[in-house]
Amino acid sequence: MTTPSLLDITQAEDYDPNSMPVDQARRHIRAFLTPITTVERLAVRDALGRVLAEDIVSPIHVPGHDNSAMDGYAVRHADLAADADVTLRVVGTSFAGKPYLGPVAPGEAVRIFTGAVVPPDCDTIIMQERARAADGKVTLGAGARQGQNRRLAGEDIKTGAVVLRRGQPVRPAELGLIASLGIVEVSVYRRLRVAFFSTGDELVSLGGSLGPGQIFDSNRYTLYGMLTEIGAEVLDMGVIRDEPEAVEQAFAEAAANADVVLTSGGVSVGDADYVKQMLDRLGQVLFWKIAMKPGRPLAFGRIGRAHFFGLPGNPVATMVTFYQFVRDALLVISGRSLGDGVPTFQARLASPIRKAPGRTEFQRGVLSRGEDGQWTVRTTGDQGSGILSSMSQANCFVVLPTAQGNTEAGAMVEVQPFDGIL
Ligand code: AMP
Ligand code: MG
Repeated sequence: MTTPSLLDITQAEDYDPNSMPVDQARRHIRAFLTPITTVERLAVRDALGRVLAEDIVSPIHVPGHDNSAMDGYAVRHADLAADADVTLRVVGTSFAGKPYLGPVAPGEAVRIFTGAVVPPDCDTIIMQERARAADGKVTLGAGARQGQNRRLAGEDIKTGAVVLRRGQPVRPAELGLIASLGIVEVSVYRRLRVAFFSTGDELVSLGGSLGPGQIFDSNRYTLYGMLTEIGAEVLDMGVIRDEPEAVEQAFAEAAANADVVLTSGGVSVGDADYVKQMLDRLGQVLFWKIAMKPGRPLAFGRIGRAHFFGLPGNPVATMVTFYQFVRDALLVISGRSLGDGVPTFQARLASPIRKAPGRTEFQRGVLSRGEDGQWTVRTTGDQGSGILSSMSQANCFVVLPTAQGNTEAGAMVEVQPFDGIL
């Protein structure tokens, strides 16, 4: 594996580390990610939450045979009349999993149930609501279309078809789909390993007691949650004091043990000069001020072979930068081929927003359905980057583009929901 050089980024004409547009930062990051290549074979269920390392090719037709979409009667369409009732002799029954094996001659029909094999002599299913059965016979109405209510072998998936592509995540639907092909084991990439620590003399880990001016470390808990939710293996290295030796040792240890090093707090985004020198020694790291709010400072690069993201310390900024930059990056490193990213849509703003042009803002919003059925969004109260309760109250980001200024109630704004169904 060769480590790409970050120098190229800094030589682009429009490169301004002190005012980096959100999109540009995303592009730069994306261009320097090295996905995991180690592959594991896992039983289908164990692959849940992993990323496929192989295309899944169907060894069979699904469905495997022509079968009935209805409870009713399998018939030869040629026996039916265009404009009159027809009475046929019922010669047997085809149950799901227990086909009728005999021949079906002209003038004959077979009682059939949903999912049961359609006898080869028959081509059409008449649903039972259109049939009158009596004395071993069945009378069927006119107007049936040939092939009606018959599901064809291979109509969902044909033998040899590529059903899933390498890079796709294995979610509940994929588990079922893979199982429907009779495939027992799949190749997936190994789990991403992320080491993280907090930096700051004011931080106390849970279980400790607060001294004067100290606070509990919350970022390690949000990071733990966000990382676990995307399927990463986490290595929590605790709180590191703002001391050069301690910080250097933590960076070196994290980089040696993980694919990605994630830190939060001023030290990690290079507020202290010694950090920049240290990281230049240990790897190559760029320090950016992103034109966004919250979450202006962001460090990005490599320490040893590990990817590095230095997040700002303010708890909301940590989460916003994680979701807006790190999450997609980690998915790519995990082997995922990403689509268009997290969807956004337009919602009506319920109350005015104050905003100065010049930065992209990710305000915390509450989406609800208005009386007219339209999705309406209001922002949570104080949008300060230390107000972590805003992330808990919110169910979406309100994404306000760089050029936008104050926005009136009633305007349409872009929202990015926190939850999807899958
Ligand atoms: P810093 O980026 O280190 O200057 O920190 C900015 C603000 O975020 C300060 O108020 C810190 O106390 C706070 N902060 C930094 N790290 C954490 C953390 N792990 N948990 C909670 N607050 C933090
Ligand atoms: Mg700090």
